[in-house]
Amino acid sequence: MKIRVLGASGSEMPGYNLPAFLVDDKILMDAGNIGFSLSDSEQWRIKYILLTHAHLDHIKGIPFFLDNIIIKNKNHTVTLISGREVLVDIKKNVFNDRIWPDFTKIPNIKEPILRFKAINRSHPLNIDGYKVFAEKMNHAVPAYGYIIEGKDRKAIAYTGDTGPTELFWRKVSLHDVRCLIVETSFPNSMSELAAKSGHLTASLLRNEILKMIKMPPMILVSHAKPQYISIIKKEIKALRIRNIEILRDGQIITV
Ligand SMILES: [Zn+2]
Ligand SMILES: [Zn+2]
Repeated sequence: MKIRVLGASGSEMPGYNLPAFLVDDKILMDAGNIGFSLSDSEQWRIKYILLTHAHLDHIKGIPFFLDNIIIKNKNHTVTLISGREVLVDIKKNVFNDRIWPDFTKIPNIKEPILRFKAINRSHPLNIDGYKVFAEKMNHAVPAYGYIIEGKDRKAIAYTGDTGPTELFWRKVSLHDVRCLIVETSFPNSMSELAAKSGHLTASLLRNEILKMIKMPPMILVSHAKPQYISIIKKEIKALRIRNIEILRDGQIITV
């Protein structure tokens, strides 16, 4: 599997894009930005958006991406996958014909640009030969972490936004996870805010990583607030965990 990092930051600033990870050119994990990073033809290759939760920093690219499809008059359907309560929130609050058009009816209900597909923790979803496993995370709103397993059984895992959790790490241990993308939003000095908002600091990340029975060979940190990036980098380095690094926008990872 190839992961192209369109954005890996916890806030938007010049040079720092919001979270979006493109898997094998067709599955987008979170959609903080799409049109900023991908050409027209690259955008049309996206078939699925796997959404961790409904917070704006993770969905911001979707409305404009759908608009791009309409502008180009493309016959293209994108399936938005997430937990049912996340999809209900998005439908009710974004694609409601007020904030943005209801693209599940455009150009028509039979062949719309946007489809919703609910995933749950007990049944993996099969998409284009990949198996997607979901688990509930610990965040301020309903949120899911995902494990995508390829045909060769190699897997990648993505936490999205989360505070300390248990079930996800148990699920990760059941798969051959070669690459883990895990959030660390705040420096250690802001652990109170991290706890309140359902996020991690470097020292909290250490506890989470130790919950895994088998350590993935690649641990990539996302969602760091750019305002604190140099402190977070130092604190991650001080953990002295092998094969851990902070993700950069534009990076391509091969698993
Ligand atoms: Zn969030
Ligand atoms: Zn976020």
